[in-house]
Amino acid sequence: MKAMRLDKFLCAVCGCTRSEAKKMVRQGRVLAAGETVKKPEQKVVPGQDEVTLDGKELKYREYEYLMLNKPKGVVTATRDSREQTVMDLIPEVHKKGMFPVGRLDKDTEGLLLITNDGELGHRLLSPKHHVTKRYSVTVTGQIGRAQQEVFESGMDIGDEKPLKPARLKILKSGEVSEAEVFITEGRFHQIKRMFEAVGSQVLKLKRLSMGPLLLDPELLPGQSRELTEEEIRCLK
Ligand code: URA
Repeated sequence: MKAMRLDKFLCAVCGCTRSEAKKMVRQGRVLAAGETVKKPEQKVVPGQDEVTLDGKELKYREYEYLMLNKPKGVVTATRDSREQTVMDLIPEVHKKGMFPVGRLDKDTEGLLLITNDGELGHRLLSPKHHVTKRYSVTVTGQIGRAQQEVFESGMDIGDEKPLKPARLKILKSGEVSEAEVFITEGRFHQIKRMFEAVGSQVLKLKRLSMGPLLLDPELLPGQSRELTEEEIRCLK
Protein backbone atom coordinates (compact mmCIF):
# COMPACT_ATOMS: atom_id res chain seq x y z
CA MET A 1 0.00 0.00 0.00
CA LYS A 2 1.00 3.59 -0.63
CA ALA A 3 2.20 5.87 2.16
CA MET A 4 -0.46 8.09 3.71
CA ARG A 5 -0.64 10.92 6.22
CA LEU A 6 -0.79 9.72 9.79
CA ASP A 7 -3.85 11.84 10.66
CA LYS A 8 -5.69 10.32 7.69
CA PHE A 9 -4.62 6.84 8.81
CA LEU A 10 -5.97 7.55 12.31
CA CYS A 11 -9.30 8.76 10.91
CA ALA A 12 -9.65 5.60 8.80
CA VAL A 13 -8.77 3.19 11.60
CA CYS A 14 -10.34 4.91 14.62
CA GLY A 15 -13.29 6.58 12.90
CA CYS A 16 -12.28 9.93 14.42
CA THR A 17 -12.26 13.37 12.80
CA ARG A 18 -9.11 14.97 11.40
CA SER A 19 -8.94 17.44 14.32
CA GLU A 20 -9.31 14.61 16.87
CA ALA A 21 -6.50 12.75 15.08
CA LYS A 22 -4.26 15.81 15.24
CA LYS A 23 -5.01 16.18 18.95
CA MET A 24 -4.01 12.55 19.62
CA VAL A 25 -0.71 13.19 17.86
CA ARG A 26 -0.09 16.44 19.77
CA GLN A 27 -0.78 14.62 23.04
CA GLY A 28 2.06 12.21 22.17
CA ARG A 29 -0.26 9.21 22.22
CA VAL A 30 0.71 7.95 18.77
CA LEU A 31 3.90 6.04 17.93
CA ALA A 32 5.04 4.97 14.45
CA ALA A 33 7.76 2.32 14.25
CA GLY A 34 8.36 2.78 17.99
CA GLU A 35 8.94 6.57 17.82
CA THR A 36 6.54 9.18 19.13
CA VAL A 37 5.10 11.06 16.19
CA LYS A 38 5.41 14.85 16.31
CA LYS A 39 3.61 15.89 13.14
CA PRO A 40 0.17 14.72 11.99
CA GLU A 41 1.26 15.00 8.36
CA GLN A 42 4.06 12.44 8.85
CA LYS A 43 3.68 9.60 6.35
CA VAL A 44 3.11 5.97 7.29
CA VAL A 45 2.76 2.89 5.10
CA PRO A 46 -0.36 0.97 6.16
CA GLY A 47 0.28 -2.69 6.73
CA GLN A 48 4.02 -2.07 6.88
CA ASP A 49 4.70 0.53 9.59
CA GLU A 50 3.60 -0.40 13.07
CA VAL A 51 1.40 2.37 14.46
CA THR A 52 0.20 2.39 18.07
CA LEU A 53 -2.27 4.54 19.98
CA ASP A 54 -1.86 4.50 23.77
CA GLY A 55 0.37 1.46 23.32
CA LYS A 56 -2.19 -0.55 21.32
CA GLU A 57 -1.42 -1.50 17.74
CA LEU A 58 -3.76 -0.03 15.13
CA LYS A 59 -4.49 -2.34 12.23
CA TYR A 60 -5.33 -0.67 8.95
CA ARG A 61 -7.82 -2.45 6.74
CA GLU A 62 -8.61 -1.21 3.29
CA TYR A 63 -12.06 -2.74 3.58
CA GLU A 64 -14.34 -3.37 6.49
CA TYR A 65 -16.54 -6.40 7.03
CA LEU A 66 -19.28 -6.65 9.62
CA MET A 67 -21.59 -9.48 10.47
CA LEU A 68 -25.00 -8.36 11.73
CA ASN A 69 -27.61 -10.59 13.31
CA LYS A 70 -30.50 -8.78 11.69
CA PRO A 71 -33.56 -8.63 13.90
CA LYS A 72 -37.13 -8.62 12.63
CA GLY A 73 -38.69 -5.25 11.93
CA VAL A 74 -35.82 -3.45 10.21
CA VAL A 75 -35.39 -3.03 6.48
CA THR A 76 -32.30 -4.04 4.51
CA ALA A 77 -31.40 -0.73 2.92
CA THR A 78 -28.72 1.90 3.34
CA ARG A 79 -31.39 4.51 4.08
CA ASP A 80 -35.13 4.80 4.34
CA SER A 81 -37.21 7.86 5.10
CA ARG A 82 -39.71 6.03 7.33
CA GLU A 83 -38.32 2.74 8.54
CA GLN A 84 -35.37 1.77 10.70
CA THR A 85 -32.64 0.24 8.52
CA VAL A 86 -29.89 -2.27 9.18
CA MET A 87 -27.40 0.62 8.90
CA ASP A 88 -29.02 2.24 11.95
CA LEU A 89 -27.91 -0.81 13.96
CA ILE A 90 -24.19 -0.68 13.26
CA PRO A 91 -21.69 1.53 15.09
CA GLU A 92 -21.17 5.03 13.66
CA VAL A 93 -17.47 4.40 12.85
CA HIS A 94 -18.41 1.72 10.32
CA LYS A 95 -20.99 3.63 8.31
CA LYS A 96 -19.08 5.36 5.55
CA GLY A 97 -19.41 3.60 2.18
CA MET A 98 -20.79 0.42 3.74
CA PHE A 99 -23.69 -1.49 2.24
CA PRO A 100 -25.54 -4.73 3.04
CA VAL A 101 -24.68 -7.67 0.80
CA GLY A 102 -28.02 -8.93 -0.44
CA ARG A 103 -31.36 -8.36 1.15
CA LEU A 104 -33.36 -10.01 3.90
CA ASP A 105 -37.07 -9.22 4.17
CA LYS A 106 -38.24 -6.96 6.98
CA ASP A 107 -39.56 -9.96 8.93
CA THR A 108 -36.50 -12.17 8.27
CA GLU A 109 -33.74 -12.48 10.87
CA GLY A 110 -30.16 -13.62 10.84
CA LEU A 111 -26.88 -13.28 9.04
CA LEU A 112 -26.27 -10.13 7.05
CA LEU A 113 -22.84 -9.13 5.81
CA ILE A 114 -22.19 -5.39 5.66
CA THR A 115 -19.07 -4.18 3.88
CA ASN A 116 -17.52 -1.51 1.68
CA ASP A 117 -15.81 -4.17 -0.46
CA GLY A 118 -17.83 -3.85 -3.65
CA GLU A 119 -15.99 -6.61 -5.48
CA LEU A 120 -16.62 -9.19 -2.77
CA GLY A 121 -20.25 -8.08 -2.41
CA HIS A 122 -20.78 -8.44 -6.12
CA ARG A 123 -19.19 -11.88 -6.24
CA LEU A 124 -21.23 -13.22 -3.32
CA LEU A 125 -24.45 -12.11 -5.00
CA SER A 126 -23.61 -13.06 -8.56
CA PRO A 127 -25.74 -16.00 -9.79
CA LYS A 128 -22.62 -17.30 -11.55
CA HIS A 129 -20.94 -18.09 -8.25
CA HIS A 130 -23.76 -20.20 -6.75
CA VAL A 131 -23.05 -19.18 -3.15
CA THR A 132 -25.19 -21.36 -0.90
CA LYS A 133 -27.35 -19.62 1.68
CA ARG A 134 -28.73 -21.72 4.53
CA TYR A 135 -31.93 -20.71 6.29
CA SER A 136 -33.79 -22.06 9.26
CA VAL A 137 -37.52 -22.00 8.64
CA THR A 138 -40.76 -22.65 10.51
CA VAL A 139 -43.78 -23.27 8.28
CA THR A 140 -47.43 -24.25 8.52
CA GLY A 141 -48.44 -27.82 7.62
CA GLN A 142 -46.61 -31.08 7.16
CA ILE A 143 -43.56 -31.37 4.94
CA GLY A 144 -41.99 -34.55 3.63
CA ARG A 145 -40.37 -36.29 0.70
CA ALA A 146 -42.89 -34.78 -1.79
CA GLN A 147 -41.87 -31.22 -0.88
CA GLN A 148 -38.18 -32.18 -0.91
CA GLU A 149 -38.55 -33.52 -4.44
CA VAL A 150 -40.27 -30.36 -5.63
CA PHE A 151 -37.51 -28.19 -4.12
CA GLU A 152 -34.83 -30.39 -5.70
CA SER A 153 -36.47 -30.32 -9.11
CA GLY A 154 -35.91 -26.61 -9.80
CA MET A 155 -39.31 -25.09 -9.08
CA ASP A 156 -41.34 -22.74 -11.20
CA ILE A 157 -42.57 -19.98 -8.90
CA GLY A 158 -43.91 -17.78 -11.67
CA ASP A 159 -40.67 -16.00 -12.59
CA GLU A 160 -39.24 -15.85 -16.07
CA LYS A 161 -36.92 -18.77 -15.31
CA PRO A 162 -37.41 -21.73 -12.96
CA LEU A 163 -35.37 -21.82 -9.77
CA LYS A 164 -32.11 -23.66 -9.40
CA PRO A 165 -32.45 -26.90 -7.40
CA ALA A 166 -32.68 -26.28 -3.66
CA ARG A 167 -32.30 -28.60 -0.67
CA LEU A 168 -34.90 -29.04 2.05
CA LYS A 169 -33.67 -30.70 5.25
CA ILE A 170 -36.65 -31.59 7.41
CA LEU A 171 -36.15 -31.28 11.17
CA LYS A 172 -39.74 -31.72 12.34
CA SER A 173 -43.01 -32.29 10.48
CA GLY A 174 -46.44 -31.62 11.97
CA GLU A 175 -49.11 -28.94 12.08
CA VAL A 176 -46.16 -26.58 12.33
CA SER A 177 -42.95 -27.86 10.73
CA GLU A 178 -39.29 -26.95 11.01
CA ALA A 179 -36.62 -27.29 8.37
CA GLU A 180 -33.45 -25.92 6.87
CA VAL A 181 -33.43 -24.70 3.29
CA PHE A 182 -30.33 -24.33 1.12
CA ILE A 183 -30.60 -22.02 -1.88
CA THR A 184 -28.04 -20.60 -4.29
CA GLU A 185 -30.07 -17.67 -5.59
CA GLY A 186 -31.57 -14.61 -3.96
CA ARG A 187 -34.86 -13.93 -5.68
CA PHE A 188 -37.53 -11.69 -4.24
CA HIS A 189 -39.26 -13.45 -1.28
CA GLN A 190 -37.79 -16.65 -2.67
CA ILE A 191 -38.25 -19.02 0.27
CA LYS A 192 -41.70 -17.70 1.13
CA ARG A 193 -42.78 -18.23 -2.47
CA MET A 194 -41.24 -21.71 -2.59
CA PHE A 195 -43.25 -22.81 0.44
CA GLU A 196 -46.39 -21.10 -0.84
CA ALA A 197 -46.05 -23.15 -4.02
CA VAL A 198 -46.15 -26.37 -1.96
CA GLY A 199 -49.06 -25.22 0.21
CA SER A 200 -47.26 -23.94 3.33
CA GLN A 201 -46.84 -20.52 4.82
CA VAL A 202 -43.56 -19.33 6.31
CA LEU A 203 -43.98 -18.32 9.96
CA LYS A 204 -40.34 -17.66 10.78
CA LEU A 205 -37.24 -17.30 8.62
CA LYS A 206 -33.65 -16.87 9.73
CA ARG A 207 -30.46 -16.93 7.65
CA LEU A 208 -27.76 -19.08 9.24
CA SER A 209 -24.98 -18.91 6.68
CA MET A 210 -23.79 -17.48 3.42
CA GLY A 211 -21.11 -19.54 1.71
CA PRO A 212 -18.45 -20.27 4.34
CA LEU A 213 -19.63 -17.45 6.63
CA LEU A 214 -21.69 -18.69 9.59
CA LEU A 215 -23.87 -16.54 11.83
CA ASP A 216 -22.07 -16.20 15.19
CA PRO A 217 -24.44 -17.80 17.73
CA GLU A 218 -23.15 -15.35 20.37
CA LEU A 219 -24.65 -12.37 18.50
CA LEU A 220 -28.05 -11.38 19.81
CA PRO A 221 -30.56 -9.96 17.30
CA GLY A 222 -29.43 -6.42 16.49
CA GLN A 223 -25.80 -7.04 17.47
CA SER A 224 -22.90 -6.92 15.03
CA ARG A 225 -19.18 -7.63 15.06
CA GLU A 226 -16.23 -7.35 12.70
CA LEU A 227 -15.30 -10.47 10.78
CA THR A 228 -12.13 -12.21 11.88
CA GLU A 229 -9.14 -12.37 9.51
CA GLU A 230 -9.93 -16.07 9.05
CA GLU A 231 -13.57 -15.39 8.08
CA ILE A 232 -12.47 -12.73 5.56
CA ARG A 233 -9.90 -15.09 4.08
CA CYS A 234 -12.52 -17.85 3.62
CA LEU A 235 -14.89 -15.48 1.83
CA LYS A 236 -12.32 -14.34 -0.71
N1 URA B 1 -36.35 -15.75 1.13
C1 URA B 1 -37.39 -14.99 1.56
O1 URA B 1 -38.54 -15.26 1.27
N2 URA B 1 -37.11 -13.94 2.35
C2 URA B 1 -35.85 -13.60 2.75
O2 URA B 1 -35.68 -12.63 3.49
C3 URA B 1 -34.80 -14.41 2.29
C4 URA B 1 -35.06 -15.47 1.48
